[in-house]
Amino acid sequence: MSEVAVKSEEKVVKKFRKPAKKKVCAFCVAGEKTIDYKDVAKIRKYITEKGKILPRRQTGVCSYHQRELANAIKRARNMALLPYVGD
Ligand SMILES: [Zn+2]
Repeated sequence: MSEVAVKSEEKVVKKFRKPAKKKVCAFCVAGEKTIDYKDVAKIRKYITEKGKILPRRQTGVCSYHQRELANAIKRARNMALLPYVGD
């Protein structure tokens, strides 16, 4: 592939991709330092239908809270509040 072709392809991709909206961490906004594993209603939003933890780039959660969230989800799974797999 020539260099020109690559460049024009990049342009097309950029044109159709929505400008990235700045996401803010919902937990930081709420001022929560720790995430309660018993708060299933809140945690539910951060897992997929299959029970997987959603990546940060999708949820906009900051690195600190993502770690807290992952721990809370794992704890909730262990307490059978959330599924390990599927629904
Ligand atoms: Zn945060």
